[in-house]
Amino acid sequence: MKLMAYIGIGSNLDDPVSQVKEALEELDGIPDSVLVSQSSLYASKPMGTADQPDYVNAVAALDTLLSAGELLQALQNIEQRLGRERDGEKWGPRIIDLDLLLYGKKTIKTDTLTVPHPGLHERDFVIIPLAEIAGNLNIPGKGLLSTLIAACENHSVRKLVV
Ligand code: AMP
Repeated sequence: MKLMAYIGIGSNLDDPVSQVKEALEELDGIPDSVLVSQSSLYASKPMGTADQPDYVNAVAALDTLLSAGELLQALQNIEQRLGRERDGEKWGPRIIDLDLLLYGKKTIKTDTLTVPHPGLHERDFVIIPLAEIAGNLNIPGKGLLSTLIAACENHSVRKLVV
């Protein structure tokens, strides 16, 4: 069944703006899927270790026939192609990070996949770009995007003109 998936993109190494743009091109090439919209690029402060460069983030909407598991695999393949090292520290610097934020209205919890993506609802660098392309989405289990943005305390994100 065809449904709308939302993908979060982040990078803070090796020219992050180019990395995010390249990731968007790769998302456009995922089989049985159409990239229907993409947010602007945003700069954000790192979570976790502060001693690392700022991030560039964006969010994309993908109309897809793939299962959630197939889509996660496609995202991980793109991360590999773009040179992501999977053994890096959690929340450490990275060339590219692709997260499956939402998969239609579905809630998924397996060993390898949690959807909605954990923490999505309180991360300004996710919900602000998401609101740009998806208006007033309802996040399963969390509520309306506009309410989540109003409740999000740390608005450190800045839209980039690129
Ligand atoms: P990360 O270091 O953020 O790229 O985490 C990747 C790991 O998180 C992978 O092993 C995935 O199986 C797992 N994971 C669980 N839920 C998700 C999700 N919604 N999107 C991406 N990765 C996920």
